Amino acid sequence: MRRPAPGAPDTPVLIIGGGIAGLSLAAELAGRTGVVLLEAEEVLGYHTSSRSARQLIPSYGPPPVQALTIRTLALIRELEANLPQPILSPRGFLLVGDEEDVRDQASGHMHPITMAEAEGLAPELEAGSFEAAGLDTTSVSCDTGLLMDWHRRRIESRGGRILTNRRVDAAERTDAGNWLVSAAGEQFVASTVVNAGGAWADAVATLFGVRPRRLQPYRRTAAIVEAANPPAPDGPMVASALDTFYYRPDAEGVLISPSEAVPSGAEDARHRPEDIDALKALVNSVTSMGLGKVHRAWTGLRTEAPDGLPVVGFDDAVPGFFWLAGQGGYGFQTSSGIAELAAAQLHGERPPVDVAEALSPARGGL
Ligand SMILES: Cc1cc2nc3c(=O)[nH]c(=O)nc-3n(C[C@H](O)[C@H](O)[C@H](O)COP(=O)(O)OP(=O)(O)OC[C@H]3O[C@@H](n4cnc5c(N)ncnc54)[C@H](O)[C@@H]3O)c2cc1C
Repeated sequence: MRRPAPGAPDTPVLIIGGGIAGLSLAAELAGRTGVVLLEAEEVLGYHTSSRSARQLIPSYGPPPVQALTIRTLALIRELEANLPQPILSPRGFLLVGDEEDVRDQASGHMHPITMAEAEGLAPELEAGSFEAAGLDTTSVSCDTGLLMDWHRRRIESRGGRILTNRRVDAAERTDAGNWLVSAAGEQFVASTVVNAGGAWADAVATLFGVRPRRLQPYRRTAAIVEAANPPAPDGPMVASALDTFYYRPDAEGVLISPSEAVPSGAEDARHRPEDIDALKALVNSVTSMGLGKVHRAWTGLRTEAPDGLPVVGFDDAVPGFFWLAGQGGYGFQTSSGIAELAAAQLHGERPPVDVAEALSPARGGL
């Protein structure tokens, strides 16, 4: 039902999208700024945020991403201090391949190690399968469910509102210059709208008359499989420098991924069993794990701008519209750093890790 748009907004900030991006920012804002978060699905994190490999790797990604990852680790460690159980647990990241590919990919916290050292850390690797290796000892696994739940509790305990089953389907300006946003038959008035729509971020922008930023969702599949000879539970995540596979020990077996990046529309992505079969054959050809039965498999969408950097900041042409999108394969590892950056921008402050220019929606190429 439509209601007349009042002069004062219901909320200063309305966040669209209840994945890790929207939740982290809402948690950062709650208590200081009124915030309402709208999620289209029945549950939070239903799309990409419940489908990740749950690893935070400081040496992974371009320099602004690495800086935000290091900041995110520090911020999550601060909040962990007040929790009964940890969110992060140590798990090294081991890159394997030929000399040139490993050298090309190794940066930041990754350092070269010998193949003998690599096989000591991951004895399941078949000797002779790879020439070179790099190791990031600062990498950690993340209990992403716990992290998102912690954000949810913080939002709600500080007066923020989270509403699910609210797909935003229309928006217009009020006479007072606010946004009148419609979602599942309900209306909300906000002075600033944050677009944390994941794979739908360009579609959300279009609803607000904002120019899309060429954000492209890419499929990525993962599975938990049984292994005849599983790697040690505290073994590293192992990834091919050619981006053909990665795996890591998991409580239920071994988590594997073909590391694919296949363009997709924004949708509820589904895995293809033949992709998992081909991946098991590949991993079995370079390790002694003997991968077998698939416990479960899934596909999520990693959404990227053409230059691979997240898109964060106020739109340069449409006032009151803020981008929080394009996190690609770095959404968890940059989450708290990006939330801190976005909150500072929304408050007109300078963030501790200032990569605002590199992530600006006004940068060239978008
Ligand atoms: C297989 C795989 C492995 C990965 N591994 C890692 C990893 O190890 N480490 C890491 O850091 N990252 C990883 N990622 C990437 C990470 O999962 C994503 O970057 C992150 O989850 C993106 O979060 P998001 O909140 O932007 O998107 P999403 O979680 O997709 O949330 C966006 C939300 O917006 C909602 N929405 C869209 N349109 C509307 C609308 N009109 N109204 C209301 N709501 C709307 C959607 O329903 C959705 O819930 C991986 C991804 C995949 C697929």
